[in-house]
Amino acid sequence: MAVDIKPISTVSDGISALKSRLSASEWTQDADIIAPHLIEWRDKYFGETPLMVMPKSTKAVSEILKICTHFDLKITPQGGNTGLVGGQTPQGEVLLSLKNMTRIRNLNTVHNSITVEAGATLQSVQEAALARGRKFPLSLASEGTCTIGGNLSTNAGGVHVLKYGTMKDLVFGVEAVLADGRIFNGLSDLRKDNTGYDLNRLFLGAEGTLGIITSACLKLFPNPNHIQRAIIGIESPQAAMNLLEHCHMSDHLALFEVMPRTGMDLVLTHIQDQRDPFTHPYPWYAIIDFETETEAQGLEIAEARLGTALESGIALDVVMAQSETQARTILALRENMSAAQKFNGGSVKLDITVPLSKIPEFFTRADEAVQTVVPKCRPIGFGHFGDGNIHYNIAQPLSKNLETGKAAYLTNWQALSDAVFDIVDALGGSISAEHGIGIMKKTDLAKRADPVKLALMKSLKTALDPNHILNPRILL
Ligand SMILES: Cc1cc2nc3c(=O)[nH]c(=O)nc-3n(C[C@H](O)[C@H](O)[C@H](O)COP(=O)(O)OP(=O)(O)OC[C@H]3O[C@@H](n4cnc5c(N)ncnc54)[C@H](O)[C@@H]3O)c2cc1C
Repeated sequence: MAVDIKPISTVSDGISALKSRLSASEWTQDADIIAPHLIEWRDKYFGETPLMVMPKSTKAVSEILKICTHFDLKITPQGGNTGLVGGQTPQGEVLLSLKNMTRIRNLNTVHNSITVEAGATLQSVQEAALARGRKFPLSLASEGTCTIGGNLSTNAGGVHVLKYGTMKDLVFGVEAVLADGRIFNGLSDLRKDNTGYDLNRLFLGAEGTLGIITSACLKLFPNPNHIQRAIIGIESPQAAMNLLEHCHMSDHLALFEVMPRTGMDLVLTHIQDQRDPFTHPYPWYAIIDFETETEAQGLEIAEARLGTALESGIALDVVMAQSETQARTILALRENMSAAQKFNGGSVKLDITVPLSKIPEFFTRADEAVQTVVPKCRPIGFGHFGDGNIHYNIAQPLSKNLETGKAAYLTNWQALSDAVFDIVDALGGSISAEHGIGIMKKTDLAKRADPVKLALMKSLKTALDPNHILNPRILL
């Protein structure tokens, strides 16, 4: 058997080369500075790295990749470190942080486009667009921290996919540095360009395995003057589906999120300043937005749609937001679901999608299936219902001290995932709706994906990154 023996000095020579070619503010080995980059939001993945590089330009990224290829140094790219599948956490690789590349390069209100560097936070892009009367519609609870490079690399979804699509739908083109240091320049805001393969799309959802995204040209939209938000008490996931169909008669519908009462209770108990909008509890809640030109139009559409939903029994109760503050408070209930679950003991967190009409069946079957794996476990499904995307989290059974049983419960992660993913497969869904594969679902992808798709993905990986230096542990 051939053994790949590398001279011992290779890694340290490579690290020295990187340090000598970058400016002092573009790298660090200071453990205190690096520490927050090695642990992720839920404390699930912990990493290590010999060096963090923080290039300030595309040219510097190119230089880094040339050196890494030369010395066979592996790299993990990182944006805001909010990813939920462990793809941004290095395990001994060089950590390439985009945090020094945050410039807005251009904003064009004729073309409705904005060109930004990959390390710009999503919120900074939304704000830049808004300042010029435009909307950049991607919206996630992590938007103050996550970056455009991370959003593109995970093909982020969020709450506005229903109307505007995922990150893949919101981009004209990208600039990306290849493993050998060459720069692919797809930065253009042409709405039509049929000149062969759309290479930009290779980098979207690739989780940093095919190149480092350094910049992107994104699509902007007219900013709606008014958003009419409402929260609706409903009976069940079936009622949520009926309500969605009913509200979809209006093309102003821009958001449709759903959460169960168990989730509402968690948020009200554990997150400060949260308030139940209703005087009575309901089994489930839907939160919806209508985007309109004027406030009067928003109210008229919402009252018409929700009034008839109440009359027909699809909706049990409705609270209409009366101000922007109240609208924010309503959505915060849903957005704080993940934070609240930190207080609910160990939780197996799945992010699945099924065809919309199959969501009620998914809940019935999954809720039953997980009980056969861990009796009395507590499934909580919530999320982007309007996209068929459910964050299906399965919390450990209740006990006096949840902390004690947490580690033992989490050993069931794979068995619980398998039980749920079998149902997702049977219903024609996907085991990753918007968070990606990373390290978390790598074996699930290998087991469940179409072999032709997997083979094509592996061919692309080898073609673009023959030495597998870019995020080599994840995805495939
Ligand atoms: C509270 C909370 C709510 C969330 N809500 C949502 C949601 O509604 N919808 C959703 O889709 N996600 C959600 N997420 C997940 C996360 O915010 C997204 O996946 C986001 O797109 C990650 O961006 P980031 O900059 O933090 O990327 P990171 O976490 O830093 O990286 C994510 C992946 O992209 C790669 N990467 C990062 N930057 C680059 C680059 N420039 N070039 C190449 N590869 C790169 C990394 O190597 C890694 O594989 C949520 C997370 C949290 C903590």
